[in-house]
Amino acid sequence: MKYVDEFRDKSAVRDLISRIGASSTKRVSFMEVCGGHTMAIQKSGIPSLLPENITLKSGPGCPVCVSSRGFIDQAVALSRIPGVIIATFGDLIRVPGSYTTLEKAKAEGSRVEIVYSILDALKIAEKYPDRKIIFLGIGFETTAPSTAAGILMARSGGLKNFFVLSSHKVMPPAMRALVEEGINIDGFIGPGHVSTITGSAIYEELPRLYRLGCVISGFEPVDILQSIYMLVMQAEKNEPKVEIQYKRAVKPEGNRKALDMLDQVFELCDDWWRGLGILKSSGLRLKNEFADFDAGLHFHVEVPDIREDARCLCGDVLKGRITPDECSLFGKSCNPVNPVGACMVSNEGACHAYYRYHYHGR
Ligand code: SF4
Repeated sequence: MKYVDEFRDKSAVRDLISRIGASSTKRVSFMEVCGGHTMAIQKSGIPSLLPENITLKSGPGCPVCVSSRGFIDQAVALSRIPGVIIATFGDLIRVPGSYTTLEKAKAEGSRVEIVYSILDALKIAEKYPDRKIIFLGIGFETTAPSTAAGILMARSGGLKNFFVLSSHKVMPPAMRALVEEGINIDGFIGPGHVSTITGSAIYEELPRLYRLGCVISGFEPVDILQSIYMLVMQAEKNEPKVEIQYKRAVKPEGNRKALDMLDQVFELCDDWWRGLGILKSSGLRLKNEFADFDAGLHFHVEVPDIREDARCLCGDVLKGRITPDECSLFGKSCNPVNPVGACMVSNEGACHAYYRYHYHGR
């Protein structure tokens, strides 16, 4: 407990706020690209503590939010195959597909189990050898290694009834796409969890090609404020660079073991991101030698054409072009009980975080 308290210490928070205020002379915007940061920033009210010349923007850091409705549509179609059990993190079951959700499919008779890790999905596969278990793999470099580990365990355990539908993605192409689209920011608050796996080298192109800084941040208020202070100092000196604030978890070289597992099981593929479209080499698919575990190859289902709700502006929210309350549905027909878009469903979604901590009750 003491460890956490240290990073919520009020005097450290006050000191950082005053140092940020005293050092910051330019109008700057920084973007976080991690759903955990989006939630932490709103929860601790950090935007209201900053001088008015510093703006924080939320980016495409929530994996559930950036994934295509087509992924949900495919999962729903798979769930309707007799004998199939879908194993998924709880976040996904209420995410709207084009026509329905996994939660509604479950109510209509599909077997959809909420799991807390891929290990739970493997246990279901062992328990029901006559059923086919499909784990929905979603997330960035943070969660993809555990999916890879699960597939390796399934292979070494001889499990023949275990499959993965992968929507895993990698972060750098999205950060690059945002910059190339012309999003107006002066630096990134770098994703702490992703960087624990990848290390810091993946961001080096940001200062080199785009003159943008990136400070990899932890998740407590002191972490985030210190990262903002570091970005402010970079902007003031006009010296963009990659720095690690979250040194207690992130090493420049990352986690070699996790990266090796990723590399063993997955390969890069082009993938679609909400708001950004198809980005080259931004997704992770199973390598050929693991094709037996690939639900997309093993099962053939009719998936309806993707239908988006044109009123939902999640794509603009995910690019930091608008704040959630600029969407006309926010807090009205779209709320956490009746979400219209994925950004209102996930705990890490900007609309959800904004509704829960910033807007609700005003
Ligand atoms: Fe989409 Fe709802 Fe957010 Fe609007 S408030 S952008 S409809 S999730």
